[in-house]
Amino acid sequence: MDLAYTPEQQAFRAEVREWMAANVPVGALVTLEREDGYRQHVAWERRLASGNWGMVTWPEAYGGRGLDLIQWLIFEEEYWRAGAPNRANQNGIFLLGPTIMEFGTDEQKARFLTPMAKGEVIWAQAWSEPGAGSDMAAIASRAVRDGDHYVLTGQKTWSSRAAYADWGFGLFRTEEGSKRHKGLSFLLFDLNAPGITRRPIRQLHGDTGFAELFFDEVRVPVANRISGEGEGWNVAMATAGFERGLMLRSPARFQATAARLVELCRAQGSRVSPGAREAVSAAWKGAQAYAYNTYMVASRIIAGGHIGAEASLNKIFWSELDRAMHRTAMQILGAAAELRHFADGEVNAWLEGYIFSLSGPIYAGSNEIQRNIIAERLLGLPRQGAG
Ligand SMILES: Cc1cc2nc3c(=O)[nH]c(=O)nc-3n(C[C@H](O)[C@H](O)[C@H](O)COP(=O)(O)OP(=O)(O)OC[C@H]3O[C@@H](n4cnc5c(N)ncnc54)[C@H](O)[C@@H]3O)c2cc1C
Repeated sequence: MDLAYTPEQQAFRAEVREWMAANVPVGALVTLEREDGYRQHVAWERRLASGNWGMVTWPEAYGGRGLDLIQWLIFEEEYWRAGAPNRANQNGIFLLGPTIMEFGTDEQKARFLTPMAKGEVIWAQAWSEPGAGSDMAAIASRAVRDGDHYVLTGQKTWSSRAAYADWGFGLFRTEEGSKRHKGLSFLLFDLNAPGITRRPIRQLHGDTGFAELFFDEVRVPVANRISGEGEGWNVAMATAGFERGLMLRSPARFQATAARLVELCRAQGSRVSPGAREAVSAAWKGAQAYAYNTYMVASRIIAGGHIGAEASLNKIFWSELDRAMHRTAMQILGAAAELRHFADGEVNAWLEGYIFSLSGPIYAGSNEIQRNIIAERLLGLPRQGAG
């Protein structure tokens, strides 16, 4: 792998940097977990799309720029370096988009991808159920076929953005009496359809962008099914791979946090303990290591390779790195960082980030489950519970 950038890549970086400098909102937006903040973030999605930056790796026909993964990494580096906001549509562009690209029909691509790239339709992921989180194959929500529609009944939970988003994607049991991974279908549904109730869930920080979803005989056209009936599990596993692998959490996000941490440590000078200094150094190295590893994987994918179970290694690495960085910042800032209602500016940003980092080892499949996957599929150890 050649780590030097080509002149074209450098020119692309300069173009992104210039656009971000002219367009990134000055000052932090209100959190995405509140309706006013959510609307601000959606406005930012649309602004990004106005520069054709919604999802740079997608074909131009679907609102992208047809760029490769290395250019995407460069885009992300400039995006986070510029301090741009979190993406309201991350579930759409990073998870569902690649899934539709791989498994969708031409009609579905035309119908769903462009509005996604333009930030016109914001998506929520609706997989988890009260009895099916880590054990996702336990999904019980049903979709019963009625002519050219499915009728959805059941409950989903822990759905990020679902309190305000426009559409959702999830797995439903389309074969009555089917068990585990069999008989599930991957369906897209309008969150404003009759029969859907959204109930916001208040999180640790008190905000309610998260929601439970209740389905009471919701009619969804069969044309909204991705891939074949009963083949939803395979499709969902590909989506989960995108989530844990390269897309959802690019290294640039953590490099930007590591750079802020170094600044914080410098600004606090001799007040920072030797232990915290070591943690800052470890964080910076960790973010760099993750970036190099991602460049290696991206180069392999461009050359025709794949990312499989090793996506689980990535997921554990970024979630633990993020938590360690924010914990170190809390340690450096001291007691003042814990008074949320009195915190402002940078202290508040660290505190909010710390609270969110605690969920990293849980969402996108908990780290315990990722360790099971690594043990079984990468190390070839016996399945859990096998005698
Ligand atoms: C911030 C956040 C955002 C989320 N966003 C979404 C979303 O947008 N859409 C969505 O569908 N879901 C979302 N989730 C839900 C998330 O995917 C689940 O919380 C997660 O999969 C764990 O499931 P659970 O909460 O049911 O916990 P459980 O499955 O009950 O697990 C509880 C604990 O037991 C451990 N455990 C369970 N089984 C095993 C096992 N076999 N071996 C070892 N340990 C085990 C788990 O790792 C965990 O520590 C989100 C969660 C969070 C925190």
